[in-house]
Amino acid sequence: MADTDTIFHKIIRREIPAQIVAESEELIAIRDIAPASRVHVLVIPKQTLPHVSNATDDDALLLGKMVLFANEIAKKEGIAESGYRLVINCGSDGGQTVPQLHLHLLGGREFSWPPG
Ligand code: 5GP
Repeated sequence: MADTDTIFHKIIRREIPAQIVAESEELIAIRDIAPASRVHVLVIPKQTLPHVSNATDDDALLLGKMVLFANEIAKKEGIAESGYRLVINCGSDGGQTVPQLHLHLLGGREFSWPPG
């Protein structure tokens, strides 16, 4: 599979449908198809970056924007006060299944720590 052929690239190109929560020039936020909590949104950069481990200094601003974007969505979804979890899975041990960087915004229930 080419780097630009992931399910998320297809959603960004509007080749397959998704519930879009927010969008900017650089980012798109969609509802996860298999939500792990009442609120489960994925913040995805439009530029190709398969894993967070591929990020360089040039991506520092983008990574920061992803977190701020998620914070704004958390406010709109009404979970800013109750709290939420931001997760980036990386590679197979990290549980990453789609090889395009994405940040999970999870909220609307209590999470335990450490994760299972
Ligand atoms: P990962 O395991 O790579 O960190 O997370 C990938 C996430 O993408 C999973 O939570 C999975 O449910 C979600 N996902 C996979 N395919 C689709 C899809 O076609 N549409 C949407 N909206 N989410 C998807």
